[in-house]
Amino acid sequence: MKGKVYLVGAGPGDPELLTVKALRLLHKADAVLYDDLVAPEILNLIPPTAQLHNVGKRCGKKKIQQEEINFLMIALADSGLEVVRLKSGDPLVFGRAGEEIESLRKAGIECEIVPGVTSALGAAATAQIPLTHRRKSSALVLLTAHQATGKEAEDWTKLAGSGATLVIYMPGQNYLGTSSKLKAAGLASETPCAIVSRATTPYQRIHRTTIGELQRAPRMAAPTLLVVGGVVGLADNAALGEFAVASSAGDLSYPAAMLAELPSHTNSTEEESIG
Ligand code: SAH
Repeated sequence: MKGKVYLVGAGPGDPELLTVKALRLLHKADAVLYDDLVAPEILNLIPPTAQLHNVGKRCGKKKIQQEEINFLMIALADSGLEVVRLKSGDPLVFGRAGEEIESLRKAGIECEIVPGVTSALGAAATAQIPLTHRRKSSALVLLTAHQATGKEAEDWTKLAGSGATLVIYMPGQNYLGTSSKLKAAGLASETPCAIVSRATTPYQRIHRTTIGELQRAPRMAAPTLLVVGGVVGLADNAALGEFAVASSAGDLSYPAAMLAELPSHTNSTEEESIG
């Protein structure tokens, strides 16, 4: 009998943000394929009887292509195993879940999605940024600076013009370029924005600025998100200060720091990486 694949969201980093359902599935999984943004504390919850495969792209020597991940999931499920494909944040938000679902359907493998807390929500929660606010913003847009379509400029103008709070995934470190694009899209230089680095982990840092000043922001460790809009002005000053101080206390990089704590049954040094 064929097994089943669960595409499971692991949340943004803090293991306590894992759902009860995700935890139950991890406890009974025969095999877990995880990305490198998944916290080691979460991997530690997986029984040592389960096969662990790191298919992330950051920590490896060789890149695993998406096709190889699809192939591995299908092969494991075909052999009758219950497979958890563990993804950071929510699997359906910039997580390539679409391609994985499609390949599973083609192979006739049953698949179920288990949502997780996407990093935009994790970042907003710790910085206490109300993403929507009755007087400031009635819409929220999740977008990426890393588009495959090449229609970015046009898309950004539409989105920025809507007055929505923008959360930009994979913003990169070309802050000058991002600031110019946001201004070209019609946003005022004074619009508040915040770079949130490694949200909900012990290494979290937040830098609040404005679009006009963004280019002067410090380069912060990946993964980062850029939150843009009037609501950023409502962030908790104490939270911003506390994390800035906490971050200067330690210089551990993430996910390298997390990898040092991987449980012994992971094979992260051999199995690597999404393309
Ligand atoms: N499925 C994930 C997104 C994967 S794309 C989700 O729902 O969150 C990877 C991007 O997500 C990163 O480049 C970064 O922009 C963002 N990201 C993921 N975890 C993050 C974290 N802890 N802090 C800040 N940004 C994060």
